[in-house]
Amino acid sequence: MGEAIEIRRKPGDEALLAELKEQGVSILSCYQCGKCTAGCPVAFAMDYGPRTIVRFMQLGMIEEALKTHSIWICAACETCSARCPRGVEPAKLMDALRVEAGKKGQLTEKNIKIFNDSFLQMVKLFGRVHELGLIMAFNLKSLQPFKDAAMGPTALGKGKMHLMPHKIKGLGTLRRVFDKTKGGEGH
Ligand code: SF4
Ligand code: SF4
Repeated sequence: MGEAIEIRRKPGDEALLAELKEQGVSILSCYQCGKCTAGCPVAFAMDYGPRTIVRFMQLGMIEEALKTHSIWICAACETCSARCPRGVEPAKLMDALRVEAGKKGQLTEKNIKIFNDSFLQMVKLFGRVHELGLIMAFNLKSLQPFKDAAMGPTALGKGKMHLMPHKIKGLGTLRRVFDKTKGGEGH
C-alpha cells in the first residue's frame, strides 16, 4: 500500500530524494511509532526529534527539515536506525540532510563549530558526553548562558540528564589519543 503513496515534492527535490533512495532511506515506511526519538540520546536538545524529521519528509516539507537545528545536533550514533522497526534509516536521513544543507549553503546553525568543540571537550574530559555540561558549555560559548535554563529541571526530573558527569575507565588512554590527534583543540 505504501507503494501507491508518494512524497509530495517541489522542483529541485528530486536529487535529494533519489540520493535517499540510493542510500536505502525508506521515508514512506515510517508509521510514526516514535521509537527513534525515544532512543535518541540528544533528542532533548533538538527542536524536532528524528520521528518528526521523517514526518516532515513524508509531507514534502524538505525546507523545514533542512532548517532544523536537529540535523546539526544529531550525533550520528545510529541508535534511531537500530531501533526502527520499519527499516527507515533515520540516521542516514539526518546525514543526507546535513549534506544537502551544506550544498544549498544553508548552514544557518552558526553555532555548529561551537557545539562540535563542546562535544569533543566533553569526550576528552570524561570519556563520554555529559548532557548538562554539554548544554552549559555550548550556551556559555555561544554567549547565551541561560538559554535552556527552563528546560533543565524538567530534564533532570525525568532522569534524562545528570548533574554530575561520570568518567569512564581507560580515560588516560583516551586523553593520550586526543593529545596525539589534537582532538578537542578546535577541530
Ligand atoms: S522508529 Fe522508524 S517507524 Fe518509528 S517513527 Fe522512527 S522512523 Fe518512523
Ligand atoms: S543518529 Fe542522530 S537522530 Fe539518530 S539517535 Fe543518534 S543522535 Fe539521534
